[in-house]
Amino acid sequence: MSNCAIVGINWGDEGKGRMVDLLTRDYDVVIRYQGGGNAGHTVVNEKGKFALHLLPSGIFRDGVVNILGNGVAMDCESLWTEIQDVTGKGVSITPENLKISDRASLLLPWHRDLDSLEEARLADRKYGSTKQGIAPFYSDKYQKKTVMAGELLYPEKLWQHLEGILEWKNLTLEKVYGAKPYTMDDLRAWVADFGEKIKPFVCDTGAFLRQAQAEGRSILFEAQLGSLRDLDYGIYPYTTSSNAIAAYAPVGSGLPSVRIDEIVGVVKAYSSCVGEGPFTCEWFGEEADKLREAGAEYGAKTGRPRRVGPIDIVATRYGVQCQGATNIALTKLDVLSYMDKIPVCAHYTLNGEQIDYFPFPAVLPDAKPVVEYMDGWQCDISGVRTWEGLPEAARKYVEYVEQEIGCHIGYVSVGPERDSIILR
Ligand code: GDP
Repeated sequence: MSNCAIVGINWGDEGKGRMVDLLTRDYDVVIRYQGGGNAGHTVVNEKGKFALHLLPSGIFRDGVVNILGNGVAMDCESLWTEIQDVTGKGVSITPENLKISDRASLLLPWHRDLDSLEEARLADRKYGSTKQGIAPFYSDKYQKKTVMAGELLYPEKLWQHLEGILEWKNLTLEKVYGAKPYTMDDLRAWVADFGEKIKPFVCDTGAFLRQAQAEGRSILFEAQLGSLRDLDYGIYPYTTSSNAIAAYAPVGSGLPSVRIDEIVGVVKAYSSCVGEGPFTCEWFGEEADKLREAGAEYGAKTGRPRRVGPIDIVATRYGVQCQGATNIALTKLDVLSYMDKIPVCAHYTLNGEQIDYFPFPAVLPDAKPVVEYMDGWQCDISGVRTWEGLPEAARKYVEYVEQEIGCHIGYVSVGPERDSIILR
């Protein structure tokens, strides 16, 4: 039995969904262990094109059990909408292939409101939230002011618990933001509309996973976002509100003592970043527009144009270290085919000095990129399926990245489809 985590090395949107979709053929169980419906994993396979937000990307494989672990922000509304969308395209989702941890805390209706109210209050100092309620949710989880999915199975206890939280939450809504308070009737309607829909999927996933482990079944852990958005190790405060790194997978999945044998870090052949925060290698103007168009860099959840730039070696090396990656999947190499010279952000300068370490978040905005150029290949590589079949300049680019970030690149992706991959 071997276990594997698939994680993002950069700012997210590296193509993790595409890699999980590919690798699920070798695993029995796929678990999302953090984050919420703010994710946007795009998967293209024989069943169609899907933008997954909360559902684990193993949902398309027959026989794979998909789990939403205790570490996720369990957004019943977002999940129910997504289940309807995906089943509407012919994919079967039942309590057999989707299980929700009874210990996953629920994202409640006011979390979304509070996210928008706070971003509006911050105005031009905003964090660039996707307004899915993730930050207010995790704050409340750690304050012990939300309920667990398993409480849906015990309605009497649920109502009692929610009543106490409602009283406390209305203080914030009314007195801090001057917003409309919620009533128990609102909550009853919300539970009837969404909570009841996801209830059949809720169970003791910890017990299921321990059994799966005892039977030698293999487990794939799927992350949302990337190292640089990790709450503790990323570009705080422009991070997400959970730990996206592989080290959190055991805690957030329901198997706290599990050993992860392989950590596949997903790196994009150039950089993209959605939302606010320092992005040292950022391009602007025509150069950026061209790359954004070539890579179709628009948010899967929000449709927002992503900020783009060349690959950032300094940030990527740091991201690899944070994840403890044992293997790298380099995605979207085909997107660079239009360039005659391939730019790389090889180093930074900080206070006039060249550096190769990733700076502390507070001084990161002062760092400047040192851009170098490699030869381009200027031909379509999307049909290539072997390492030898790649043009020499493309191979040299991959080898350069591998050398600089200090981790083997075992997969090179040259297209969004499941089979557009080169194994190395
Ligand atoms: P995730 O959140 O890390 O799963 O990444 P996203 O789904 O947000 O972004 C990756 C996007 O790139 C998706 O639209 C994928 O279909 C697409 N994609 C993934 N790998 C490749 C690749 O190798 N080449 C191209 N052209 N597109 C890719």
